[in-house]
Amino acid sequence: MPYKFRGGVHPNYMKAPEEPVVVITPPPQVVVPMAQHIGAPCQPLVAVGDYVTMGQKIGENPATVSAPVHSPVSGKVIKVEPRLHPLGDMIMAVVIENDFQDTPCTDMAPLTEEELKDQEAILTRLREAGIVGMGGAMFPTAFKIRGGLGKVDTLIINGAECEPYLNGDHWTMRLHPEELLKGIELARIASGLDKAYYGIEKNKMDAIDLLNSKNPAQYGVEIVPEEVKYPQGAEKMQIKVITNREVKPGGLPAGVGCNVISTQTAYAIYKACYLGIPCYERILTVGGSAVNKPYNLQCRIGTPFSYIAEQCGGFIKTPKKIVLGGPMMGLIATSLDAVNIKGTAGILFFTEEEDKTVENPTCIHCGKCLTVCPMGLEPLYMYMYFKKGDFENMKKYHILDCFECGSCSYNCPGRMPLTHSFKTAKLLFAKKAADEKARAAAKEAENK
Ligand code: SF4
Ligand code: SF4
Repeated sequence: MPYKFRGGVHPNYMKAPEEPVVVITPPPQVVVPMAQHIGAPCQPLVAVGDYVTMGQKIGENPATVSAPVHSPVSGKVIKVEPRLHPLGDMIMAVVIENDFQDTPCTDMAPLTEEELKDQEAILTRLREAGIVGMGGAMFPTAFKIRGGLGKVDTLIINGAECEPYLNGDHWTMRLHPEELLKGIELARIASGLDKAYYGIEKNKMDAIDLLNSKNPAQYGVEIVPEEVKYPQGAEKMQIKVITNREVKPGGLPAGVGCNVISTQTAYAIYKACYLGIPCYERILTVGGSAVNKPYNLQCRIGTPFSYIAEQCGGFIKTPKKIVLGGPMMGLIATSLDAVNIKGTAGILFFTEEEDKTVENPTCIHCGKCLTVCPMGLEPLYMYMYFKKGDFENMKKYHILDCFECGSCSYNCPGRMPLTHSFKTAKLLFAKKAADEKARAAAKEAENK
């Protein structure tokens, strides 16, 4: 250990400046979306006119795959209505006028010493505190860990942070090493395991040394320094590098006995269990050359992107594109009015010059895309069949196994929109399957 994964690229990392995390004052109004996890959205528990405290539960869904939502400020509820979600849809949200008092909710006390060692007490707390995968996946953490019980023998904490620009995790490691180790210990106890592995790329040696100086073994944690190579931070790559196991196409980490959680999730677990603070804030990176000063911010959930940009000195150029997460795998946001949510690891404001799309992308058949795919796929052929709308051959060339890491597009001298096409192709496959299912159901109804 560590093992290697095939392919990958070495992008220009352009990490945010060497300044500690800045804690920003929350905005006068927060907009808290009821959908901040994979699964059915929450139902609001409050109404217009209610007074809420900071950390009070304001949204819940009893479904197993869900996570409650908490107020990030104290103040008055002024609207409960659909608002623009960062990913584009209108989603039910609770709008709170901040009274700037940060009056804390006392519903959630820190766990007792006994409870901090108790698997069930920790799992219950992770659910109640609304903790989800904060690397971006937003899978409810309690559900993920429970689902792995009896199947998972290896817990991995993802500290690679291999995407360019992002370095909020690196700063969290440097500022809160003991809190992180305690958070990982709690995740390990909740998983019923004796040991957890914290995989960190070697471009963060200061953090690796600091974490090692805190005697991670006392928490049942081993720090694993990893090669600096994108996409080291992809779940499948972490599993390969730490265990030499390969998640089969369409498979889940638990299928090969692994669970992976992010650095920010481990930090949120610490806060929920040791401090009784539910998941209503996070550390995120703000970057891109449209913004005056890139920063890592500690920011309440529900803060509008426009307000976040103001905290970074505003815009010096007009942003053409807003990317949520890193530039390789991030998602495009549609408006500055949208707000950060639990899974927002970064907000990048890119200018026209930073936009890599070209008018006439041309394949020069150099084969570079074939050498970098960590899944061993053949992007050139996948693209060719995508353009022809040839579903059979797209399948034959395993387009559905692409996890959209962006390495092929990054390495393509012809600027071919490879990853974007594969994303679209996967949506088309999903639509085709849904159409076929609907047709079969209609036929069955007809025959009755
Ligand atoms: S890297 Fe780009 S130009 Fe080269 S073969 Fe692949 S698609 Fe064509
Ligand atoms: S985006 Fe898909 S095809 Fe391209 S390198 Fe990544 S996994 Fe391979």
